[in-house]
Amino acid sequence: MKIVSIFNQKGGVGKTTTNINLAAFIALRGYKVLVIDIDPQGNTSSGLGIEKEELENTTYELLLSDISIADVIHNVENIENLKIIPSNMNLAGADLELSYMEHRESILKTKLAALEENFDYVIIDCPPSLGLLTINALTASDTVLIPMQCEYYALEGISQLVKTIQKVKKGLNKNLEVEGVVLTMFDSRRNLQIQVAEELKSYFGELVYENSIPRNIRLAEAPSFGLPIALYDPKAKGSEAYSDLADEFLRKQSQEVVNG
Ligand code: ATP
Ligand code: MG
Repeated sequence: MKIVSIFNQKGGVGKTTTNINLAAFIALRGYKVLVIDIDPQGNTSSGLGIEKEELENTTYELLLSDISIADVIHNVENIENLKIIPSNMNLAGADLELSYMEHRESILKTKLAALEENFDYVIIDCPPSLGLLTINALTASDTVLIPMQCEYYALEGISQLVKTIQKVKKGLNKNLEVEGVVLTMFDSRRNLQIQVAEELKSYFGELVYENSIPRNIRLAEAPSFGLPIALYDPKAKGSEAYSDLADEFLRKQSQEVVNG
């Protein structure tokens, strides 16, 4: 089982869109995937068709009560291999409540260690902040997958992003690695975007995925139907892009095994 956090402290860069669609395609390839929504906005949950508002077995209860992890795992309709631990606005208070707890950074890690069901991948959608929810996600993870929008401000955000990952690596999770960097809402006709993409490649090297995600309205529409793009419009450009990204992600896993 590999645990991957989708993280960038910058808001609106495509974390949730990447989480939903990468997870869905990997599950459709036959792997067992658990998505954890650790963002109080709950966008991953609604985007995967969960009616989240009234739920009482969510990430909040997982982190702040002694409910077992099996009891907060929900099915995702139409994708047999995909399960989710959803979140809703209740989670907004968790950062503060967690701060009073012992071992407050590693609660998610401890809960995940008690997972009895076998998953190939756990993919965690982080909020756009550096609070205890994000720290819990990074502490529990093997790797971080970073979505980046190719605009000027992306470059300014990198040092903060890298600092956060290094801080977690130093204090809480020395094995944390970067899984990859995916360029989102990418428009290859715009010079600024190409320049920023070049900068990101010179910084992150081979960690930048060859498959970038274009801006595609169908990707923005799909969540309002509670569907990943694979089911909403499999022929859309955005669907092909996430399908290719899922293949590249999986190819890199097998390479890592080969390389030892
Ligand atoms: P937050 O930081 O608030 O959690 P986020 O990083 O999770 O945001 P998303 O919610 O995935 O970002 O995307 C932000 C907005 O951009 C959403 O409205 C989403 O539908 C839209 N969007 C994301 N990726 C694409 C894309 N490739 N093409 C078109 N729209 C996109
Ligand atoms: Mg999000």
